[in-house]
Formats: sequence, structure tokens, C-alpha cells
Amino acid sequence: MDDIGRNDQLAQWDRDYFMHPSTHLAQHARGEAMGRVIRGASGVHIEDRNGNRLLDAFAGLYCVNVGYGRPEIAEAIAKQAKELAYYHAYVGHGTEAAITLSKMVLERAPDHMSKVYFGLSGSDANETNIKLVWYYNNILGRPEKKKIISRWRGYHGSGLMTGSLTGLPLFHDKFDLPLSPILHTSAPYYYHRDDPDQSEEEFSAQCAAELEELIAREGADTIAAFWAEPMLGTGGIVPPPKGYWEAIQPVLEKHDILLVADEVVTGFGRLGTMFGSEHYGMGPDLITIAKGLTSAYAPLSGSIVSDKMWKVLERGTDENGPIGHGWTYSAHPVGAAAGVANLQLLDDLKLIDNAGTVGAYLNQRLSETFADHPHVGEVRGEGMIAAVEFVEDRDRRKAFDPAKKTCAKIATELLSQGVIARAMPGGDILGFAPPFCLTRENVDEIVDKTAKAVRAAGL
Ligand code: PLP
Repeated sequence: MDDIGRNDQLAQWDRDYFMHPSTHLAQHARGEAMGRVIRGASGVHIEDRNGNRLLDAFAGLYCVNVGYGRPEIAEAIAKQAKELAYYHAYVGHGTEAAITLSKMVLERAPDHMSKVYFGLSGSDANETNIKLVWYYNNILGRPEKKKIISRWRGYHGSGLMTGSLTGLPLFHDKFDLPLSPILHTSAPYYYHRDDPDQSEEEFSAQCAAELEELIAREGADTIAAFWAEPMLGTGGIVPPPKGYWEAIQPVLEKHDILLVADEVVTGFGRLGTMFGSEHYGMGPDLITIAKGLTSAYAPLSGSIVSDKMWKVLERGTDENGPIGHGWTYSAHPVGAAAGVANLQLLDDLKLIDNAGTVGAYLNQRLSETFADHPHVGEVRGEGMIAAVEFVEDRDRRKAFDPAKKTCAKIATELLSQGVIARAMPGGDILGFAPPFCLTRENVDEIVDKTAKAVRAAGL
């Protein structure tokens, strides 16, 4: 069968048999929605089966941080699969790869962190962390202290509990979520503040006051943890306003509420620093990691546990026996081998430095090109992540009618010019989160083509 025949066959099988995540299922099955079959990738480019070469300015789902086609990671995976494809990590078993990766993660994590538990996805790592928070409070004799506060527009996964933590209606509606122990507080989204004259610091203080009120209403004795990405990701790529973490953390400390930093996007360099927590001066009790841990060459996630919590977990097992938590694939050796090679590559090629410097150039060029555009409300970002928010009325910060799908049109135009960016949910927000090996020439291409796409979409 020739290539065209094979492509047609794959397209048919795709419609007939494959249920895709986050997809309009009916349109896809009827062949009305655009699908794409990816065949290969190298550096910052992916290639589909129709021969289109695209610059991936979103690194997959902001995860292929070292770029595509790295032989060092592919070879580490192959070597591990040949030597030992699998053994479990239950009752103290380990592999050289998993043990080595634990050490490498802790060497890079904030000083007060103690151990790492490995899972498969960001969702299951957050699920683990919820259980660790509940276990912790049970061991401390506080069985009522179980509710968790996350933020509207936060993204923490799409499982039952993690989908509940997520603060985006798309992930709740028709799924009977959020479940009751999860509460949401406002997103620290300064651009959408009610009072246009409010300063960033005043807005941050207002967020902290709102959190304080929620805690008072529910009773501090019932609140276990506050869950947050250091910088909002999927909910709009929104860096925290000035003074946000400085205002929030004392509230949590005052009420003995744990801070869980979901660093699935920010962990391992996305902001130009190893962790978002260090970037923003956060002192989390747990850190969730995934994507950047292996640059998505193999599925692997992790829960990094602080000294403070670890001591209580140890006490718990002294009192109750082994902890009743684990997945078959926890600390999978193939994923761990990918993680070791990936973290090594980040160091050897100084890719986090590159994320900082080239990311700053990306942010600068986006600002220069769009900050004064009559339909751009805000250009924002940090390190190798950025967003442009399009609005109908810039002076009144009034959004376009969502039915116009303004940003989706821009993203489609951009795609037709060979660049992938992501239309984020909850507004006309075009997101960029390229691989860390991006060059300044790549930046120029992304920004120039985005400007063309914006014009082609009629803005
Ligand atoms: N947490 C954050 C901050 C994320 O951005 C994501 C995914 O995008 C997740 C958790 C969930 O990770 P996964 O899709 O691997 O389950």
C-alpha cells in the first residue's frame, strides 16, 4: 500500500476505533473535525503523515522540554527495556534507574524536601498527594481537617479528585464534579480585576483576604491544604501578581494549612529556574511533578514530600504498618531511565539557562509586537512560557463573544503557516510554551507568523 492509501486507512481506523482525550467525539467520529497523524519529530519541529513540518511552540502539551528526537534519552530507554523492562517498587524493591532518579530529583528540589514517590501522570501524582495530605492529618489525630482549597482556573488533572481540584467548568460539567471536599477560591488574575485602579499588591491582598474569609466560613479545623500552580497554566498562563505568594502563605501558616505546589508545568526549568517554587519564594509541603521530569519521552510523575510531612508518614507506618498506596507502574524503570537521561541533558546542554534567555526574548518580542494592538488586552509570561490575550474592547477589558471563537481562528491561521500555539480555555488567550532548545530565529518566526495570523483572522 502506498503512503496515501495508508493515510486514508489510518484516518478511517482513527474515526472508527480511537477515542481521543479532550476532543469533540462526535465531530471526530464523523470526520468533520481536523485530526492529524504525527509521524516524527526533531528539535522544535514535528512532522505529520501528510508531510507537513510544524514548529511546535507548545512542546506537545508543554512537556517536551528538551526538544524532540534526543538520542541520549531514546538510548537510555532502549537500554533499560533490554536489561530490565519492569520490576515493581512495592515492599522496598527498587531499580538502579529509580533510585538514581530519586537522588537527582532531591538534589534539584528545594532544601526542605525529603523524598520522592513516582507515579505515571500529573493527575495520579496529585491524587497521591491528596491521599498523603489526608493520611498526614489522620496520623496527627485531626480527622476533620480534610477539605482542600484550589483556585478557579487552576488545572490539576482530570481524575475524580484532581478534576475536582481543577477550576475549569469544562472538566466539571456533566461529570458531577467537583466532589464535596474540594473548595475553590478566586484566580489571581490581575488583568480581570473588578477595580481598574487597584494595584497588583492591593489585588494580591484582596485574594488573601478572600482566602481568609473562606477559611473562616468553613472553619480552619476542616481545611487541610491549599493547592496551586506557582503560575496558572492551562487556565490562561497567568503569572501571579506582585505580592501574591507573600500574601497567601502567611494565611496558610496561620491556620496550619499545607501548601501543595503543582509544578507539573513549572518543574524542571519552564520559568528559567529549576522550580517555580523557588522562582516565587514559595515553601511548599508537597510538590507535584510530571511533564518536565522526562520531557514526556516516557510517562513518569512524582510527589516530592517535605521533611515536615515525611516525619509524620514515617510515624504513620510505625503505628499502622506499610502505607496502603501504590500503582503497579510506580517508579517504572523505563520511565525512570528516561528521567535520568533527561535531567542529565538539561544540565549538559544548559537548557534551563536557554529557557530563561531565549524565553525572555520570546516575551520581549511578543510584547513589542502586540502590547499596543487595539485588540490585545495583555501580553504576559515568564521564562519559556507566554500568552497573548485578545479582547474586543481594550479600554474596557471586554472580552469577545466566545461564540466568535476569535482565538481558535488565530491558532488555525497560525497552524496553516506552520506554527503550533494553543488556544487556552476560558478566554481568547493564545499560549506559547516551546521546547527549551528554541533559538532566537525560531522566536522571530513564531512572533512574525503570529502577527500575520492575527491579521488574517481580521484583527
Ligand atoms: N497539573 C498541571 C499543572 C498540569 O498542567 C497538568 C496537565 O496539563 C496536570 C496536573 C495533569 O497532568 P496529566 O495530564 O499528566 O495527568
